[in-house]
Amino acid sequence: CGIVGYIGHRDAYPIIMKGLQRLEYRGYDSAGIVLFDGEETHLSKTKGKVEDLKKRAESTIAVKGKLGLGHTRWATHGVPNDINSHPHYSNSGDLVIIHNGIIENYESIKKALIGRGYSFESDTDTEVLVNLIEEIKNTEDVKLGKAVQIALNQVVGAYAIAVFDKNKPDEIVVAKLGSPLAIGIGENEYFIASDASPFIEFTNNAVYLEDEEMAIVRIGKEIKLRKIKDDAIA
Ligand code: GLU
Repeated sequence: CGIVGYIGHRDAYPIIMKGLQRLEYRGYDSAGIVLFDGEETHLSKTKGKVEDLKKRAESTIAVKGKLGLGHTRWATHGVPNDINSHPHYSNSGDLVIIHNGIIENYESIKKALIGRGYSFESDTDTEVLVNLIEEIKNTEDVKLGKAVQIALNQVVGAYAIAVFDKNKPDEIVVAKLGSPLAIGIGENEYFIASDASPFIEFTNNAVYLEDEEMAIVRIGKEIKLRKIKDDAIA
């Protein structure tokens, strides 16, 4: 039930792991992390504690990278197991998402996506959302931020999400309705988290998203805050 993200010039792995530990008080049954090393994404996730994730990540993946997302899960759709843990990839493997909350109408969306050729590894509502975003991005030929916005206008539920595209690793798109989401603003770096505790040692400058707000967090740019229901995202 916690989210941590980093994009900037530091090693993301220790920031995310420490951040997940600080969010442990929120309660969870599984944990996971994805890192982008400049070329590829590396994902590690497990049922259990952040300590278990640490052991697994350090023995299975390259933990280098200046962009990453971490998650602690409190299962709502799909039992707590390794596969249902977050992050989740889209079918192409390009998009990766973390999500706290619930997508209530995920079953009908999932059915429709399967009808259009999508397949699913997990039983989560979250994997449905990341594939919906991918389909919209491809069929409507829009940027990630716009695709997230269109997708969120089709879902019913509650969420704090963070998603990035490995082909455009200078930005993370985040959105919130119901679950908390804060962005820490540093110099040429951004932190994302459920509360400020994961980034308090790096910056005092934080923005808390309101419900139905989203943001495109891009290196070298000011944060663009937008209403999910607005049309304004290019
Ligand atoms: N509904 C999602 C799942 O079950 C996210 C749960 C959470 O908030 O951690 O995987």
